[in-house]
Amino acid sequence: MTWRLGRCSSALAIAAVLAPIAFGAQPASPAARALVLAHVTVIDVVRGQATPDLDVTIVGNRITAVVRSGGVTRRNAQVVNATGKFLIPGLWDMHSHSLDRWEYSSLLNIANGVTGFRDPGAVKAFSEIVKLRADVEAGRVFGPRFVAAGTIIDGSPSSRATYVTIDTPEQMRAEVARRKTAGLDFIKVYTRLSRDAFLAVAAEGKRLGIPLDGHVPLSLTAVEASNAGMRSIEHSYRHRMACATEENRIRDLLLAQIKAVQAYDDPAYRSTEDEAFRLGLDTYSADRCTELGKAFARNGTWFVPTLVEMATRFDSLFPGQPEFVERFKDPRTQYVPPHKVNEWRANQAFNMGQVEAMIAYRPINFDTLFDQRKREVANRLRMPADLHRGGARLLAGTDVDTTFPFLFYGFSLHDELGLLVKGGLTPIEALRTATINPAEFLHREKDLGTVETGKLADLVLLDANPLELISNTQKIAAVVANGRYLPDPELKKLLERAALIVKK
Ligand SMILES: [Zn+2]
Repeated sequence: MTWRLGRCSSALAIAAVLAPIAFGAQPASPAARALVLAHVTVIDVVRGQATPDLDVTIVGNRITAVVRSGGVTRRNAQVVNATGKFLIPGLWDMHSHSLDRWEYSSLLNIANGVTGFRDPGAVKAFSEIVKLRADVEAGRVFGPRFVAAGTIIDGSPSSRATYVTIDTPEQMRAEVARRKTAGLDFIKVYTRLSRDAFLAVAAEGKRLGIPLDGHVPLSLTAVEASNAGMRSIEHSYRHRMACATEENRIRDLLLAQIKAVQAYDDPAYRSTEDEAFRLGLDTYSADRCTELGKAFARNGTWFVPTLVEMATRFDSLFPGQPEFVERFKDPRTQYVPPHKVNEWRANQAFNMGQVEAMIAYRPINFDTLFDQRKREVANRLRMPADLHRGGARLLAGTDVDTTFPFLFYGFSLHDELGLLVKGGLTPIEALRTATINPAEFLHREKDLGTVETGKLADLVLLDANPLELISNTQKIAAVVANGRYLPDPELKKLLERAALIVKK
């Protein structure tokens, strides 16, 4: 017993030192005294089991004990009766452009139990990112912990103005070194990278110890990218072609499409787009996908499907659908800057015109078009499960960044978990993609990913069992973020603050 007391008091001393924390009107610092979540059912995300009637003790920002109820000294502890509640590890959104909107994304993430995220593309200065990351880990700034890539690297012509363009292996090696020195966590590459530049970033990243994530450039196949050591591949849309028997033909078409864009050749753009889409749709092969999953498993390549972004994009292609019109009544739009919601509406009108034009000028009617898109969504939804069958590891991510319609910081991660289950995963498999899998992916199993003694106190307390129904992850009773206990009323305050900030 003495050792336990000794450990506790030193942790208390540390908590006391950190006590005066500056985060304005946000919740209080972690209690200097112990917090006990008593009589709680702990979800073991590794075994997929629920163990009832445990007491989980938190001191400072660590879990110091997980024992049968009644087995722990509670003198001077804040005890929360968690009878009938379920405790899961804090959730990670593994594809979230949160950094450039930290002021409110941090509040929305925490309010939704998202205590960590991986930012694969932000324009914030490297030095600011690295400082914020350290401040959050140390408890000096309130918000989810994170890892980040900084700016996205693309080839010419760049897909977006905010991306850095690099075309030669020499430039690429210099850029990798610059980012490693700056302290960034990984490199994110995009679709238009040349083959040489991609192979250079893969090799140099390996040499310097900075992982490579992102889109598979059109200059390679997914297997080639995985063999070259790519750590993770993002999104289920373009990369569904890797599950199509006509992968090479589709890649050729998409490469031709870039040239068509440069030449302002609309008809060529249209026909390549149509044919690539149709080939991807008609030659999707579950077996080929499972084979690809085996290659990913062999190479340690992870897949981040971001199904929720794909699903909302599909809906935006069919703006005339009643469901899409209904979506603007989504109360979560109050957490998005109003000018962004207006952009979503403008895009809706634009897409509506596109669909009408398609039907008017091309040999296709609405029903065929709608049916094609439905089949496409079904393919993309099943892709993670097909890859997983081959052994590919999966991570939950949303791609939330305010550009894509109906993605919401924090909230959308729960939608993603639901879509993963809809696509064929079990609730526990889906839950792992946001808890233990991110911890393993980041090599932080010592600190994160499960509810165990010694780990960081990032936790979500639920009113219902997520193993029975994945949507139960949304029934949040409280969040513990880096040791800070935030019961429901505190979470509501975070949401209110975020709603005010986005209107500024
Ligand atoms: Zn993204």
